[in-house]
Amino acid sequence: MAKKTEKRALVTGAGGFIGHHLVKHLKDGGLWVRGVDVKKPEFEPSPADEFLVTDLRELSNCRRAVNGVEDVYQLAADMGGIGYITSNFASLTRNNVLINVNMLEAAHAEGVGRYLFTSSACIYPSYLQMDEDVAPLKEKDAIPADPERGYGWEKLFTEQLVQYYRDDYGLDTRIGRFHNIYGPLGAYEGGREKAPAAICRKVAETKVGATIEIWGDGEQTRSFCYVDDCVEGLTRLMDSGFTEPLNLGTDQLVSVNQLVDLVCEIAGKRLKKAHDPSKPQGVRGRNSDNGLLRKVLDWEPKVSLKQGLNVTYPWIWSQLSQRGRAQPPAPRGLRRESGVRVRA
Ligand code: NAD
Repeated sequence: MAKKTEKRALVTGAGGFIGHHLVKHLKDGGLWVRGVDVKKPEFEPSPADEFLVTDLRELSNCRRAVNGVEDVYQLAADMGGIGYITSNFASLTRNNVLINVNMLEAAHAEGVGRYLFTSSACIYPSYLQMDEDVAPLKEKDAIPADPERGYGWEKLFTEQLVQYYRDDYGLDTRIGRFHNIYGPLGAYEGGREKAPAAICRKVAETKVGATIEIWGDGEQTRSFCYVDDCVEGLTRLMDSGFTEPLNLGTDQLVSVNQLVDLVCEIAGKRLKKAHDPSKPQGVRGRNSDNGLLRKVLDWEPKVSLKQGLNVTYPWIWSQLSQRGRAQPPAPRGLRRESGVRVRA
């Protein structure tokens, strides 16, 4: 049970990648935390004070989840990498609509204090992302809308719904738009992994001098944000009082080919690339404009892509090594006693 003086927070999606890191971050900050998910974290136990395994597509389960908490961080979603979100339009959109309409209604009905929704850069219009040398996306660019089919439309719709709950019922809301979050303790295979984890896995599993497959021509560009910066940004956004959508990512644009080269350098491997243009690659270019983020939070993500991959690659290599799938050399900085080093 929470002590009367302790602030209580709910993290939904606490069995997933960012949710699990957020629970750790909030616990480090001294909060009492309830985690909720349909599954427990895969790679280590959750430090949450209470962990509820339940399906948030049901309103009654959402009401149990939010009961007695002041802060809600809504991260639960049916999501995955580009291959997954472009081949499950109906089920993914339905699942996420149900989670989000029921979570908002439950938060309103149970009178929670503050409510943060985690949106995505996938809400930005495709017509602004046709070029690899893309102009960074500002928050106001979202409308006129032409988001990613399915996943992006649902996030944009929920952003609107969050604002209606604020306007009509006075719910104290926040909206963070994530740009490609990566780090250890996340999915690295099975279809739900994102590009950095997929590339780390492919590089780890490939023998020196052999070939790895890259989706598209590899010239598509993105910016990537390390998970410790993401969870720090989330708590800062919650405390900021800022109720409009806010980008949360870095503005360091790299191509997928450059990302592969960086992972190879960290791995100490020379590999050949084989590009497969038949595979989905998403928009051509996407970057975050961090002007508003800097102004509102007086802060921005600090971990460079190299620093973040220096933690992520050894973790994925060690996971694969435990199952006899990693190819040498073992990455430098791999801690043999624990097999994982999370903080940059
Ligand atoms: P994740 O898949 O690791 O975590 C999502 C969690 O939600 C999973 O553990 C899943 O089991 C849980 N979930 C799904 N359906 C549920 C249900 N019906 N009831 C309860 N729990 C359910 O993904 P993540 O990368 O940690 O993403 C967290 C949030 O951030 C999501 O809302 C996602 O859309 C958003 N986001 C992530 C990124 C990124 O780069 N990782 C980018 C943009 C937005």
